[in-house]
Amino acid sequence: MRPARRTFPLAVLLVLVLAGCQKPHPEVRRTFLALGTLVEVSLYDVPPARAARLLDAVEADFRRRHHDWHAWEESPVTRLNRAFAAGRCLPVPKVVAPLLGPATRLAVASDHLFNPAIGRLIALWGFHAERYPDHPPPAARIRALVAARPRMTDLYRDAAGRLCSRNPAVALDFGGFAKGWAIGEVARLLRRGGAHDAVIDAGGDLQVLGRHGDRPWRIGIRDPQRRGAVLGAVEVADGECVFTSGSYERFFVWHGRRYHHLIDPRTGYPATGALSVTVIATDPALADAAATALFVAGAGHWPAIARRLGVTQVLLVAPDGTLEASPAMARRLRRLAPERTLHVLAETPAASRGSERSSR
Ligand code: ADP
Ligand code: MG
Repeated sequence: MRPARRTFPLAVLLVLVLAGCQKPHPEVRRTFLALGTLVEVSLYDVPPARAARLLDAVEADFRRRHHDWHAWEESPVTRLNRAFAAGRCLPVPKVVAPLLGPATRLAVASDHLFNPAIGRLIALWGFHAERYPDHPPPAARIRALVAARPRMTDLYRDAAGRLCSRNPAVALDFGGFAKGWAIGEVARLLRRGGAHDAVIDAGGDLQVLGRHGDRPWRIGIRDPQRRGAVLGAVEVADGECVFTSGSYERFFVWHGRRYHHLIDPRTGYPATGALSVTVIATDPALADAAATALFVAGAGHWPAIARRLGVTQVLLVAPDGTLEASPAMARRLRRLAPERTLHVLAETPAASRGSERSSR
């Protein structure tokens, strides 16, 4: 027994020395479709076998949520929506339960501009379908759904703990923050699995972990007016998320006007106050919901909603192409094209708008 006791520490030391000499593991990347978008997860410096196991788990997690939260194919969410329409109550599906509280809080904080209860309106516009429609739905049907005022706050639990809606017009659609929620869960899964440097990117909405080698992650913000071009860039720290809602990806054109998938619950029509909104925050579900809500709020109006949501880093591209940023976002924006005009909006009403010309 004695010799074994002596050799054990030596063996450990040898392993440690070898590990110290090892090169970083190469990047391992996995791409797949889930939640209506292309998801790309990149891991840095994780041993290949562990990386493969982690990526299997990540892909399975995204795919499970894709089915659990589907807003129009048979799912726990569509079963709930049918029950609400029929005035029935249902036990809360386990996969939906964690989303209800946060979704309601975000809806209330955003003055219901982020409104996951407008599933019927979203379905009416037809952005659910494989092929987008080529004309808007009848105005009377839009008006009727807006007048029915579906809200997350119409939901309640009965004495048996089942979920019910006071309003049959409520239909849940978590599309406005499902990606954010899923990214947050997957980030936790990766950290638990020992991945410290990673990017989880769902169609341009992303969270970063750690660093990219010896420097922070650098993320380009897309220019909604020029395909493939970036407006500027930001360096993001461990755990930060960059989420963008834009009118440039899912839309159709009818009589020369663009109709996109971000619906203003007040009018029932696609929101017209912005071309894109980018939010940086450390909570991905918040960043996702806020990007949608601030897009709906529109140019000049977003600061008040951002304050209520507790979001401090916002960049909005107005319909005329000018940029509006919160002070914290303006400070970290880099490589902004010199011809772009950047208005820095403090968290005050649109009237007291400061202005500066970008020189970066
Ligand atoms: P994307 O999915 O293109 O990244 P978002 O994260 O902003 O953009 O989510 C858009 C989805 O959110 C829509 O496809 C729809 O399902 C849903 N949605 C549209 N308008 C709203 C709204 N006002 N509030 C909540 N969800 C919305
Ligand atoms: Mg969103």
